[in-house]
Amino acid sequence: MSSESVSNAENESARPSHFIRDIVIQDIQNGKNGGRVHTRFPPEPNGYLHIGHAKSICLNFGLAQEFGGKCNLRFDDTNPSKEETEYVDSIIEDVRWLGFDWDDRMFYASDYFDQLYAWAIQLIKAGKAYVCDLNAEQVREYRGTPQEPGKESPYRNRSVEENLDLFERMRAGEFPDGSRTLRTKIDMASPNFNMRDPVMYRILRAEHHRTGNKWCVYPMYDYAHGESDSIEGITHSICTLEFEDHRPLYDWYVENLGIHAPQQIEFDRLNLTNTVLSKRKLLALVREKYVSGWDDPRMPTICGFRRRGYTPEAIRTFCANIGVSKTNGLIEFGLLEHYLREDLNKRALRVMAVLDPLKVVIDNYPDDLVEHMDAVNNPEDETAGSRTVPFSKVLYIEKDDFREDPPKQYFRLSPGREVRLRYGYLVTCTGVVKNDAGEVVEVHCTYDPATRGGNAPDGRKVKSTMHWVSAAHALDCEVRLYDTLFLEGKDTDDLASAFNPNSLQKKAAKIEPSVKGAAPLTKYQFERVGYFCADKEPGVFNRTVALRDTWAKVEKKTTS
Ligand code: ATP
Ligand code: MG
Repeated sequence: MSSESVSNAENESARPSHFIRDIVIQDIQNGKNGGRVHTRFPPEPNGYLHIGHAKSICLNFGLAQEFGGKCNLRFDDTNPSKEETEYVDSIIEDVRWLGFDWDDRMFYASDYFDQLYAWAIQLIKAGKAYVCDLNAEQVREYRGTPQEPGKESPYRNRSVEENLDLFERMRAGEFPDGSRTLRTKIDMASPNFNMRDPVMYRILRAEHHRTGNKWCVYPMYDYAHGESDSIEGITHSICTLEFEDHRPLYDWYVENLGIHAPQQIEFDRLNLTNTVLSKRKLLALVREKYVSGWDDPRMPTICGFRRRGYTPEAIRTFCANIGVSKTNGLIEFGLLEHYLREDLNKRALRVMAVLDPLKVVIDNYPDDLVEHMDAVNNPEDETAGSRTVPFSKVLYIEKDDFREDPPKQYFRLSPGREVRLRYGYLVTCTGVVKNDAGEVVEVHCTYDPATRGGNAPDGRKVKSTMHWVSAAHALDCEVRLYDTLFLEGKDTDDLASAFNPNSLQKKAAKIEPSVKGAAPLTKYQFERVGYFCADKEPGVFNRTVALRDTWAKVEKKTTS
Protein backbone atom coordinates (compact mmCIF):
# COMPACT_ATOMS: atom_id res chain seq x y z
CA MET A 1 0.00 0.00 0.00
CA SER A 2 1.17 3.52 -0.50
CA SER A 3 2.40 4.58 2.86
CA GLU A 4 4.33 7.77 2.19
CA SER A 5 1.49 9.72 3.69
CA VAL A 6 2.42 8.55 7.14
CA SER A 7 6.05 9.28 7.72
CA ASN A 8 8.41 7.11 9.64
CA ALA A 9 9.23 10.18 11.66
CA GLU A 10 6.74 8.91 14.20
CA ASN A 11 9.13 6.07 14.78
CA GLU A 12 6.66 3.23 14.50
CA SER A 13 9.18 0.61 15.52
CA ALA A 14 9.78 2.29 18.86
CA ARG A 15 6.14 1.93 19.79
CA PRO A 16 4.90 -0.55 22.33
CA SER A 17 3.66 -3.79 20.83
CA HIS A 18 0.27 -5.20 21.73
CA PHE A 19 -1.52 -8.52 21.58
CA ILE A 20 -3.04 -8.00 18.11
CA ARG A 21 0.32 -7.05 16.66
CA ASP A 22 1.78 -10.14 18.33
CA ILE A 23 -0.91 -12.33 16.73
CA VAL A 24 -0.16 -10.84 13.32
CA ILE A 25 3.57 -11.44 13.76
CA GLN A 26 2.89 -15.06 14.79
CA ASP A 27 0.62 -15.61 11.80
CA ILE A 28 3.23 -14.26 9.41
CA GLN A 29 5.88 -16.49 10.96
CA ASN A 30 3.59 -19.51 10.67
CA GLY A 31 2.80 -18.72 7.07
CA LYS A 32 -0.92 -18.44 7.80
CA ASN A 33 -2.80 -16.91 4.83
CA GLY A 34 0.43 -17.27 2.88
CA GLY A 35 1.93 -14.63 5.16
CA ARG A 36 -0.53 -12.00 3.95
CA VAL A 37 -1.84 -9.25 6.20
CA HIS A 38 -5.11 -7.75 5.03
CA THR A 39 -7.30 -5.68 7.36
CA ARG A 40 -10.25 -3.38 6.85
CA PHE A 41 -11.88 -0.41 8.50
CA PRO A 42 -15.66 -0.95 8.32
CA PRO A 43 -17.64 2.14 9.36
CA GLU A 44 -21.39 2.24 9.15
CA PRO A 45 -22.21 5.46 7.24
CA ASN A 46 -24.74 6.64 9.81
CA GLY A 47 -22.74 9.48 11.32
CA TYR A 48 -19.39 11.23 11.28
CA LEU A 49 -16.25 9.55 12.53
CA HIS A 50 -15.10 10.33 16.07
CA ILE A 51 -11.84 9.93 17.94
CA GLY A 52 -12.81 6.35 18.89
CA HIS A 53 -12.91 5.46 15.21
CA ALA A 54 -9.45 6.97 14.87
CA LYS A 55 -8.15 4.28 17.19
CA SER A 56 -9.62 1.59 14.95
CA ILE A 57 -8.37 3.33 11.79
CA CYS A 58 -4.82 3.67 13.11
CA LEU A 59 -4.86 0.06 14.25
CA ASN A 60 -6.15 -1.41 10.99
CA PHE A 61 -4.25 0.77 8.55
CA GLY A 62 -1.23 0.84 10.85
CA LEU A 63 -0.86 -2.95 10.98
CA ALA A 64 -1.20 -3.23 7.21
CA GLN A 65 1.43 -0.56 6.76
CA GLU A 66 3.84 -2.04 9.22
CA PHE A 67 3.68 -5.53 7.75
CA GLY A 68 3.51 -4.66 4.08
CA GLY A 69 -0.15 -5.60 3.85
CA LYS A 70 -3.34 -3.92 2.74
CA CYS A 71 -6.24 -2.26 4.48
CA ASN A 72 -9.61 -1.75 2.82
CA LEU A 73 -12.14 0.94 3.53
CA ARG A 74 -15.53 -0.73 3.61
CA PHE A 75 -18.84 0.92 4.28
CA ASP A 76 -21.04 -1.35 6.31
CA ASP A 77 -24.25 -0.19 4.73
CA THR A 78 -26.78 -2.89 5.54
CA ASN A 79 -29.25 -0.62 7.34
CA PRO A 80 -30.74 1.69 4.71
CA SER A 81 -32.96 3.64 7.10
CA LYS A 82 -30.09 5.45 8.86
CA GLU A 83 -27.44 5.76 6.19
CA GLU A 84 -26.64 8.68 3.94
CA THR A 85 -24.08 9.66 1.33
CA GLU A 86 -23.19 12.77 3.35
CA TYR A 87 -21.71 10.40 5.91
CA VAL A 88 -19.89 8.39 3.27
CA ASP A 89 -18.23 11.54 1.94
CA SER A 90 -17.23 12.74 5.38
CA ILE A 91 -15.73 9.37 6.29
CA ILE A 92 -13.62 9.33 3.12
CA GLU A 93 -12.35 12.83 3.87
CA ASP A 94 -11.58 12.05 7.50
CA VAL A 95 -9.69 8.80 6.92
CA ARG A 96 -7.61 10.54 4.24
CA TRP A 97 -6.94 13.47 6.53
CA LEU A 98 -5.72 11.10 9.22
CA GLY A 99 -3.09 10.09 6.68
CA PHE A 100 -4.29 6.74 5.36
CA ASP A 101 -4.92 5.46 1.91
CA TRP A 102 -6.81 2.44 0.58
CA ASP A 103 -5.68 2.73 -3.05
CA ASP A 104 -8.53 1.31 -5.15
CA ARG A 105 -9.99 -0.74 -2.32
CA MET A 106 -13.03 1.19 -1.27
CA PHE A 107 -15.99 -1.15 -0.93
CA TYR A 108 -19.55 -1.28 0.29
CA ALA A 109 -21.24 -4.22 1.96
CA SER A 110 -24.10 -3.42 -0.43
CA ASP A 111 -21.77 -4.39 -3.32
CA TYR A 112 -22.21 -7.93 -2.03
CA PHE A 113 -26.00 -8.07 -1.71
CA ASP A 114 -26.32 -10.46 -4.68
CA GLN A 115 -23.63 -12.78 -3.37
CA LEU A 116 -25.06 -12.67 0.15
CA TYR A 117 -28.46 -13.56 -1.24
CA ALA A 118 -26.99 -16.48 -3.17
CA TRP A 119 -25.27 -17.73 -0.03
CA ALA A 120 -28.52 -17.49 1.89
CA ILE A 121 -30.09 -19.78 -0.74
CA GLN A 122 -27.14 -22.13 -0.30
CA LEU A 123 -27.77 -22.30 3.45
CA ILE A 124 -31.49 -22.90 2.89
CA LYS A 125 -30.70 -25.75 0.48
CA ALA A 126 -28.36 -27.24 3.09
CA GLY A 127 -31.22 -27.17 5.61
CA LYS A 128 -29.40 -24.54 7.67
CA ALA A 129 -31.75 -21.61 7.23
CA TYR A 130 -35.52 -21.19 7.31
CA VAL A 131 -38.22 -18.61 6.81
CA CYS A 132 -39.88 -17.77 10.11
CA ASP A 133 -43.28 -16.08 10.46
CA LEU A 134 -42.85 -14.96 14.07
CA ASN A 135 -42.89 -11.22 14.46
CA ALA A 136 -40.09 -9.32 16.22
CA GLU A 137 -41.76 -9.50 19.60
CA GLN A 138 -42.42 -13.22 19.32
CA VAL A 139 -38.86 -13.88 18.21
CA ARG A 140 -37.70 -12.14 21.37
CA GLU A 141 -40.12 -14.15 23.48
CA TYR A 142 -38.99 -17.43 21.97
CA ARG A 143 -35.33 -16.54 22.45
CA GLY A 144 -35.38 -17.47 26.17
CA THR A 145 -33.20 -15.99 28.88
CA PRO A 146 -29.61 -16.50 29.97
CA GLN A 147 -30.94 -19.09 32.46
CA GLU A 148 -33.40 -20.92 30.19
CA PRO A 149 -32.97 -22.17 26.67
CA GLY A 150 -35.15 -20.66 23.96
CA LYS A 151 -38.09 -22.35 22.28
CA GLU A 152 -37.89 -23.52 18.71
CA SER A 153 -39.95 -21.56 16.24
CA PRO A 154 -42.99 -23.49 14.93
CA TYR A 155 -41.67 -22.67 11.42
CA ARG A 156 -38.24 -24.16 12.03
CA ASN A 157 -38.92 -27.42 10.25
CA ARG A 158 -40.33 -26.12 7.00
CA SER A 159 -39.17 -28.06 3.97
CA VAL A 160 -36.33 -26.75 1.86
CA GLU A 161 -38.76 -26.22 -1.03
CA GLU A 162 -41.14 -24.17 1.08
CA ASN A 163 -38.26 -22.09 2.46
CA LEU A 164 -36.87 -21.42 -1.01
CA ASP A 165 -40.29 -20.40 -2.25
CA LEU A 166 -41.04 -18.13 0.72
CA PHE A 167 -37.60 -16.48 0.69
CA GLU A 168 -37.91 -15.78 -3.02
CA ARG A 169 -41.32 -14.22 -2.41
CA MET A 170 -39.94 -12.18 0.51
CA ARG A 171 -37.45 -10.75 -1.92
CA ALA A 172 -40.12 -10.19 -4.56
CA GLY A 173 -42.01 -7.96 -2.15
CA GLU A 174 -45.04 -10.18 -1.54
CA PHE A 175 -45.04 -9.73 2.24
CA PRO A 176 -45.27 -6.66 4.44
CA ASP A 177 -42.31 -5.26 6.36
CA GLY A 178 -41.49 -7.22 9.48
CA SER A 179 -43.89 -10.05 8.73
CA ARG A 180 -41.24 -12.71 8.07
CA THR A 181 -37.51 -13.22 8.51
CA LEU A 182 -34.93 -15.66 7.25
CA ARG A 183 -33.24 -17.30 10.22
CA THR A 184 -30.20 -19.45 10.65
CA LYS A 185 -30.91 -22.91 12.07
CA ILE A 186 -28.30 -23.32 14.78
CA ASP A 187 -29.24 -24.04 18.39
CA MET A 188 -32.05 -22.54 20.47
CA ALA A 189 -30.44 -23.95 23.61
CA SER A 190 -27.02 -22.42 23.05
CA PRO A 191 -25.71 -20.52 26.07
CA ASN A 192 -24.76 -17.83 23.54
CA PHE A 193 -27.84 -15.83 22.53
CA ASN A 194 -26.27 -14.98 19.19
CA MET A 195 -26.44 -18.67 18.26
CA ARG A 196 -30.16 -19.07 19.00
CA ASP A 197 -31.31 -19.07 15.40
CA PRO A 198 -30.17 -15.54 14.58
CA VAL A 199 -32.03 -13.56 11.95
CA MET A 200 -30.19 -13.31 8.60
CA TYR A 201 -32.65 -11.25 6.56
CA ARG A 202 -35.47 -8.89 7.36
CA ILE A 203 -38.12 -7.35 5.13
CA LEU A 204 -37.67 -3.58 5.00
CA ARG A 205 -38.97 -1.20 2.40
CA ALA A 206 -36.46 1.60 2.58
CA GLU A 207 -34.52 3.29 -0.16
CA HIS A 208 -30.86 2.39 0.04
CA HIS A 209 -28.24 5.09 -0.66
CA ARG A 210 -26.60 2.82 -3.26
CA THR A 211 -29.03 0.14 -4.34
CA GLY A 212 -32.10 2.38 -4.37
CA ASN A 213 -35.26 0.30 -4.30
CA LYS A 214 -33.78 -2.87 -5.76
CA TRP A 215 -34.10 -4.72 -2.48
CA CYS A 216 -36.81 -5.01 0.13
CA VAL A 217 -34.93 -7.65 2.11
CA TYR A 218 -31.71 -6.63 3.83
CA PRO A 219 -29.06 -8.81 5.48
CA MET A 220 -28.36 -8.38 9.18
CA TYR A 221 -24.96 -7.07 10.25
CA ASP A 222 -23.81 -10.42 11.65
CA TYR A 223 -24.59 -12.24 8.45
CA ALA A 224 -23.11 -9.61 6.17
CA HIS A 225 -19.97 -8.75 8.04
CA GLY A 226 -17.98 -11.98 8.05
CA GLU A 227 -18.98 -12.76 4.48
CA SER A 228 -17.89 -9.31 3.33
CA ASP A 229 -14.56 -9.86 5.09
CA SER A 230 -14.28 -13.23 3.41
CA ILE A 231 -15.03 -11.89 -0.07
CA GLU A 232 -12.29 -9.29 0.34
CA GLY A 233 -9.77 -11.86 1.54
CA ILE A 234 -9.40 -10.17 4.91
CA THR A 235 -6.98 -12.02 7.17
CA HIS A 236 -7.50 -10.22 10.47
CA SER A 237 -10.96 -8.82 11.14
CA ILE A 238 -10.35 -6.44 14.01
CA CYS A 239 -13.36 -5.13 15.91
CA THR A 240 -14.34 -3.87 19.34
CA LEU A 241 -15.01 -6.02 22.39
CA GLU A 242 -18.80 -6.01 22.19
CA PHE A 243 -18.48 -8.35 19.22
CA GLU A 244 -16.70 -11.04 21.21
CA ASP A 245 -19.96 -12.96 21.72
CA HIS A 246 -20.66 -12.66 18.01
CA ARG A 247 -17.45 -14.42 17.01
CA PRO A 248 -18.92 -17.97 17.15
CA LEU A 249 -21.59 -16.85 14.70
CA TYR A 250 -19.03 -15.09 12.51
CA ASP A 251 -17.08 -18.34 12.38
CA TRP A 252 -20.23 -20.42 11.88
CA TYR A 253 -21.21 -18.60 8.68
CA VAL A 254 -17.83 -18.80 6.95
CA GLU A 255 -17.41 -22.40 8.01
CA ASN A 256 -20.86 -23.52 6.88
CA LEU A 257 -20.51 -21.68 3.59
CA GLY A 258 -17.06 -23.19 3.12
CA ILE A 259 -15.45 -19.87 2.26
CA HIS A 260 -12.20 -18.12 3.28
CA ALA A 261 -12.23 -17.68 7.05
CA PRO A 262 -10.77 -14.42 8.37
CA GLN A 263 -9.86 -14.33 12.04
CA GLN A 264 -11.95 -11.99 14.17
CA ILE A 265 -10.00 -10.32 16.97
CA GLU A 266 -11.60 -7.97 19.49
CA PHE A 267 -9.99 -5.00 21.23
CA ASP A 268 -11.08 -2.37 23.72
CA ARG A 269 -13.08 0.66 22.65
CA LEU A 270 -11.59 4.04 23.30
CA ASN A 271 -13.38 5.95 26.04
CA LEU A 272 -12.19 9.45 26.94
CA THR A 273 -12.91 11.39 30.12
CA ASN A 274 -15.52 14.14 29.75
CA THR A 275 -16.28 13.02 26.21
CA VAL A 276 -19.18 11.23 24.62
CA LEU A 277 -18.29 8.84 21.79
CA SER A 278 -21.67 7.59 20.73
CA LYS A 279 -22.93 8.47 17.28
CA ARG A 280 -26.46 8.58 18.60
CA LYS A 281 -25.63 11.28 21.15
CA LEU A 282 -23.41 13.20 18.76
CA LEU A 283 -26.24 13.16 16.24
CA ALA A 284 -28.63 14.50 18.89
CA LEU A 285 -26.24 17.38 19.66
CA VAL A 286 -26.26 18.32 15.98
CA ARG A 287 -29.99 17.79 15.36
CA GLU A 288 -31.04 19.69 18.46
CA LYS A 289 -28.61 22.48 17.56
CA TYR A 290 -26.57 22.44 20.75
CA VAL A 291 -23.59 22.71 18.41
CA SER A 292 -23.19 24.36 15.02
CA GLY A 293 -22.67 21.07 13.19
CA TRP A 294 -20.64 17.86 13.12
CA ASP A 295 -17.49 19.97 12.74
CA ASP A 296 -18.21 22.25 15.67
CA PRO A 297 -14.79 22.56 17.33
CA ARG A 298 -16.24 21.21 20.59
CA MET A 299 -17.26 17.93 18.99
CA PRO A 300 -15.05 14.83 19.48
CA THR A 301 -15.51 14.10 15.79
CA ILE A 302 -12.50 13.94 13.49
CA CYS A 303 -13.79 16.97 11.57
CA GLY A 304 -14.42 18.80 14.86
CA PHE A 305 -10.85 18.16 15.99
CA ARG A 306 -9.58 19.21 12.58
CA ARG A 307 -11.41 22.53 12.72
CA ARG A 308 -10.27 23.02 16.29
CA GLY A 309 -6.65 22.81 15.12
CA TYR A 310 -5.65 19.25 15.99
CA THR A 311 -3.14 17.62 13.67
CA PRO A 312 -3.38 14.12 12.24
CA GLU A 313 0.11 13.49 13.59
CA ALA A 314 -0.99 14.22 17.15
CA ILE A 315 -4.03 11.95 16.84
CA ARG A 316 -1.94 9.14 15.35
CA THR A 317 0.66 9.43 18.08
CA PHE A 318 -2.07 9.38 20.71
CA CYS A 319 -3.63 6.26 19.15
CA ALA A 320 -0.28 4.52 18.95
CA ASN A 321 0.43 5.14 22.60
CA ILE A 322 -2.88 4.41 24.34
CA GLY A 323 -2.43 0.70 23.81
CA VAL A 324 -4.75 -2.04 22.65
CA SER A 325 -6.15 -4.45 25.20
CA LYS A 326 -8.92 -6.85 26.12
CA THR A 327 -10.57 -4.67 28.77
CA ASN A 328 -12.38 -1.40 28.28
CA GLY A 329 -10.86 1.48 30.16
CA LEU A 330 -11.01 5.25 30.33
CA ILE A 331 -8.27 7.47 28.94
CA GLU A 332 -7.65 10.98 30.27
CA PHE A 333 -8.49 13.63 27.70
CA GLY A 334 -5.36 15.39 28.94
CA LEU A 335 -3.24 12.68 27.33
CA LEU A 336 -4.57 13.57 23.89
CA GLU A 337 -3.82 17.21 24.65
CA HIS A 338 -0.33 16.27 25.74
CA TYR A 339 0.52 14.73 22.35
CA LEU A 340 -1.19 17.63 20.65
CA ARG A 341 0.94 20.21 22.45
CA GLU A 342 4.09 18.26 21.65
CA ASP A 343 3.21 18.35 17.98
CA LEU A 344 1.95 21.94 17.84
CA ASN A 345 5.04 23.15 19.63
CA LYS A 346 7.04 21.92 16.65
CA ARG A 347 4.86 23.37 13.93
CA ALA A 348 2.76 26.32 15.19
CA LEU A 349 3.80 29.83 14.12
CA ARG A 350 4.35 32.15 17.06
CA VAL A 351 2.43 35.40 16.94
CA MET A 352 1.30 37.97 19.46
CA ALA A 353 -2.37 38.41 20.25
CA VAL A 354 -4.07 40.22 23.11
CA LEU A 355 -7.34 38.70 24.29
CA ASP A 356 -8.27 41.23 26.96
CA PRO A 357 -6.78 44.50 25.70
CA LEU A 358 -5.52 47.25 27.98
CA LYS A 359 -4.14 50.38 26.31
CA VAL A 360 -0.52 51.35 26.95
CA VAL A 361 0.88 54.74 25.92
CA ILE A 362 4.65 55.18 25.75
CA ASP A 363 4.97 58.84 26.52
CA ASN A 364 8.55 59.37 25.34
CA TYR A 365 8.12 57.43 22.06
CA PRO A 366 7.86 59.66 18.94
CA ASP A 367 4.24 60.18 17.90
CA ASP A 368 4.61 59.12 14.28
CA LEU A 369 7.34 56.55 14.52
CA VAL A 370 6.65 52.94 13.55
CA GLU A 371 9.49 50.45 13.93
CA HIS A 372 9.38 47.00 12.42
CA MET A 373 10.81 44.66 14.98
CA ASP A 374 12.28 41.28 14.04
CA ALA A 375 10.37 38.35 15.52
CA VAL A 376 11.15 34.64 15.30
CA ASN A 377 8.35 32.52 13.81
CA ASN A 378 9.18 29.34 15.64
CA PRO A 379 12.16 28.87 17.97
CA GLU A 380 11.69 25.09 17.54
CA ASP A 381 12.03 25.27 13.78
CA GLU A 382 14.73 27.38 12.13
CA THR A 383 13.22 26.86 8.70
CA ALA A 384 10.11 28.76 9.80
CA GLY A 385 12.11 32.01 9.52
CA SER A 386 11.14 35.35 10.94
CA ARG A 387 8.80 38.26 10.37
CA THR A 388 8.55 41.84 11.53
CA VAL A 389 6.04 43.21 14.01
CA PRO A 390 5.15 46.92 14.05
CA PHE A 391 5.92 48.84 17.25
CA SER A 392 4.46 52.27 17.94
CA LYS A 393 3.54 54.73 20.67
CA VAL A 394 0.17 53.19 21.56
CA LEU A 395 0.01 49.48 22.27
CA TYR A 396 -2.27 46.91 23.85
CA ILE A 397 -1.24 44.44 26.50
CA GLU A 398 -3.34 41.90 28.41
CA LYS A 399 -5.36 43.41 31.25
CA ASP A 400 -4.05 40.68 33.44
CA ASP A 401 -0.46 41.75 32.79
CA PHE A 402 -0.95 44.95 34.77
CA ARG A 403 -1.73 45.41 38.47
CA GLU A 404 -1.89 48.72 40.22
CA ASP A 405 -1.22 47.00 43.54
CA PRO A 406 0.83 43.96 42.64
CA PRO A 407 0.72 41.07 45.08
CA LYS A 408 3.98 39.43 46.10
CA GLN A 409 5.40 37.22 43.34
CA TYR A 410 3.65 39.32 40.69
CA PHE A 411 6.43 40.50 38.39
CA ARG A 412 4.52 41.88 35.48
CA LEU A 413 3.78 45.54 34.85
CA SER A 414 2.90 47.79 37.80
CA PRO A 415 3.70 51.40 38.72
CA GLY A 416 7.46 51.98 38.83
CA ARG A 417 8.24 48.49 37.49
CA GLU A 418 10.31 47.85 34.36
CA VAL A 419 9.38 44.91 32.08
CA ARG A 420 10.34 43.67 28.63
CA LEU A 421 7.98 43.95 25.71
CA ARG A 422 8.95 40.93 23.64
CA TYR A 423 10.94 41.88 20.52
CA GLY A 424 10.34 45.54 21.53
CA TYR A 425 11.87 47.53 24.35
CA LEU A 426 12.17 47.64 28.09
CA VAL A 427 9.44 49.91 29.40
CA THR A 428 8.72 51.33 32.86
CA CYS A 429 5.25 52.15 34.13
CA THR A 430 4.88 55.79 35.15
CA GLY A 431 1.16 56.14 35.81
CA VAL A 432 -2.40 55.19 34.97
CA VAL A 433 -5.65 56.74 33.76
CA LYS A 434 -8.89 55.55 35.37
CA ASN A 435 -12.51 55.78 34.36
CA ASP A 436 -15.31 57.04 36.60
CA ALA A 437 -15.72 53.57 38.06
CA GLY A 438 -12.10 53.65 39.17
CA GLU A 439 -10.92 51.02 36.69
CA VAL A 440 -7.56 51.44 35.00
CA VAL A 441 -8.25 52.10 31.30
CA GLU A 442 -4.84 53.29 30.21
CA VAL A 443 -1.32 52.69 31.42
CA HIS A 444 1.50 55.16 30.80
CA CYS A 445 5.09 54.11 30.36
CA THR A 446 8.46 55.36 29.24
CA TYR A 447 10.80 53.28 27.12
CA ASP A 448 14.56 53.04 27.07
CA PRO A 449 15.64 53.62 23.44
CA ALA A 450 18.89 51.77 24.15
CA THR A 451 17.02 48.49 24.62
CA ARG A 452 15.74 47.93 21.08
CA GLY A 453 14.95 44.25 20.61
CA GLY A 454 14.43 43.85 24.33
CA ASN A 455 17.94 43.73 25.78
CA ALA A 456 19.66 46.31 27.95
CA PRO A 457 23.28 47.12 26.96
CA ASP A 458 24.17 47.48 30.64
CA GLY A 459 22.96 43.94 31.25
CA ARG A 460 20.24 44.88 33.76
CA LYS A 461 17.57 42.27 34.15
CA VAL A 462 13.80 42.43 34.26
CA LYS A 463 11.63 39.66 35.67
CA SER A 464 8.88 39.66 33.10
CA THR A 465 8.55 39.52 29.31
CA MET A 466 5.15 40.35 27.94
CA HIS A 467 3.38 40.18 24.61
CA TRP A 468 1.73 43.20 23.05
CA VAL A 469 0.32 44.53 19.78
CA SER A 470 0.46 47.98 18.20
CA ALA A 471 -2.97 49.60 18.54
CA ALA A 472 -2.86 51.22 15.12
CA HIS A 473 -1.76 48.03 13.35
CA ALA A 474 -3.50 45.23 15.23
CA LEU A 475 -6.30 43.33 13.53
CA ASP A 476 -9.64 42.98 15.23
CA CYS A 477 -10.44 39.30 15.40
CA GLU A 478 -12.78 37.00 17.24
CA VAL A 479 -11.27 34.26 19.32
CA ARG A 480 -13.35 31.34 20.49
CA LEU A 481 -12.44 29.61 23.69
CA TYR A 482 -13.82 26.15 24.36
CA ASP A 483 -14.62 24.10 27.38
CA THR A 484 -16.02 20.58 27.63
CA LEU A 485 -19.40 20.01 25.97
CA PHE A 486 -20.86 18.43 29.08
CA LEU A 487 -20.92 19.38 32.72
CA GLU A 488 -19.08 16.95 34.92
CA GLY A 489 -21.08 14.20 36.55
CA LYS A 490 -24.26 14.75 34.52
CA ASP A 491 -26.16 12.08 32.64
CA THR A 492 -25.39 12.79 29.00
CA ASP A 493 -28.67 11.17 27.94
CA ASP A 494 -30.34 14.30 29.22
CA LEU A 495 -28.72 16.84 26.92
CA ALA A 496 -30.62 19.81 28.29
CA SER A 497 -29.21 19.46 31.77
CA ALA A 498 -25.82 17.98 30.87
CA PHE A 499 -24.86 20.48 28.18
CA ASN A 500 -22.26 23.00 29.34
CA PRO A 501 -23.62 26.47 28.48
CA ASN A 502 -20.11 27.88 28.86
CA SER A 503 -18.56 25.45 26.43
CA LEU A 504 -18.09 28.31 23.95
CA GLN A 505 -16.90 31.76 24.89
CA LYS A 506 -16.26 34.45 22.25
CA LYS A 507 -13.83 37.31 22.72
CA ALA A 508 -12.93 40.35 20.64
CA ALA A 509 -9.15 40.22 20.42
CA LYS A 510 -6.33 42.29 18.92
CA ILE A 511 -3.83 40.32 16.86
CA GLU A 512 -0.60 41.33 15.11
CA PRO A 513 -1.10 42.04 11.40
CA SER A 514 0.94 39.07 10.13
CA VAL A 515 -2.09 36.78 10.56
CA LYS A 516 -4.04 38.75 7.98
CA GLY A 517 -5.65 36.45 5.44
CA ALA A 518 -4.60 33.31 7.32
CA ALA A 519 -5.82 30.23 5.48
CA PRO A 520 -8.28 28.10 7.46
CA LEU A 521 -6.50 25.56 9.65
CA THR A 522 -3.28 27.64 9.90
CA LYS A 523 -1.85 26.86 13.31
CA TYR A 524 -0.51 29.48 15.68
CA GLN A 525 0.83 29.79 19.11
CA PHE A 526 -0.42 33.06 20.51
CA GLU A 527 2.58 33.70 22.72
CA ARG A 528 1.84 33.12 26.41
CA VAL A 529 -1.85 32.56 25.61
CA GLY A 530 -2.28 29.22 23.90
CA TYR A 531 -2.45 27.34 20.62
CA PHE A 532 -4.97 28.69 18.14
CA CYS A 533 -6.11 27.82 14.65
CA ALA A 534 -7.64 29.97 11.93
CA ASP A 535 -11.28 29.03 11.46
CA LYS A 536 -13.05 28.59 8.13
CA GLU A 537 -14.86 31.82 9.00
CA PRO A 538 -12.41 34.66 8.20
CA GLY A 539 -11.22 36.65 11.19
CA VAL A 540 -12.05 33.90 13.66
CA PHE A 541 -9.49 31.89 15.63
CA ASN A 542 -10.31 28.78 17.63
CA ARG A 543 -8.35 27.98 20.71
CA THR A 544 -7.01 24.51 20.10
CA VAL A 545 -5.53 23.95 23.53
CA ALA A 546 -4.04 25.98 26.35
CA LEU A 547 -0.25 26.24 26.47
CA ARG A 548 0.20 24.19 29.57
CA ASP A 549 -1.95 21.82 31.44
CA THR A 550 -3.16 24.34 33.99
CA TRP A 551 -6.07 22.08 34.81
CA ALA A 552 -3.76 19.37 36.15
CA LYS A 553 -1.99 21.90 38.37
CA VAL A 554 -5.22 23.17 39.87
CA GLU A 555 -6.33 19.60 40.43
CA LYS A 556 -3.09 18.78 42.21
CA LYS A 557 -3.40 21.78 44.51
CA THR A 558 -6.94 21.01 45.54
CA THR A 559 -6.27 17.34 46.20
CA SER A 560 -2.93 17.62 47.98
P1 ATP B 1 -21.03 4.08 17.75
O1 ATP B 1 -21.19 3.24 18.95
O2 ATP B 1 -20.39 5.41 18.03
O3 ATP B 1 -22.27 4.20 16.93
P2 ATP B 1 -20.09 2.01 16.00
O4 ATP B 1 -19.17 0.98 16.55
O5 ATP B 1 -21.48 1.62 15.79
O6 ATP B 1 -19.93 3.34 16.87
P3 ATP B 1 -19.11 1.85 13.32
O7 ATP B 1 -19.27 2.81 12.23
O8 ATP B 1 -19.80 0.56 13.22
O9 ATP B 1 -19.54 2.60 14.66
O10 ATP B 1 -17.57 1.65 13.66
C1 ATP B 1 -16.61 1.35 12.69
C2 ATP B 1 -15.44 0.72 13.38
O11 ATP B 1 -14.92 1.59 14.38
C3 ATP B 1 -15.83 -0.55 14.07
O12 ATP B 1 -14.86 -1.54 13.79
C4 ATP B 1 -15.85 -0.20 15.52
O13 ATP B 1 -15.52 -1.29 16.29
C5 ATP B 1 -14.81 0.91 15.60
N1 ATP B 1 -15.10 1.81 16.71
C6 ATP B 1 -16.23 2.52 16.93
N2 ATP B 1 -16.15 3.20 18.08
C7 ATP B 1 -14.94 2.92 18.61
C8 ATP B 1 -14.25 3.31 19.81
N3 ATP B 1 -14.81 4.12 20.70
N4 ATP B 1 -13.01 2.82 20.01
C9 ATP B 1 -12.43 2.02 19.11
N5 ATP B 1 -13.02 1.60 17.99
C10 ATP B 1 -14.26 2.04 17.73
MG1 MG C 1 -21.55 -0.30 14.47
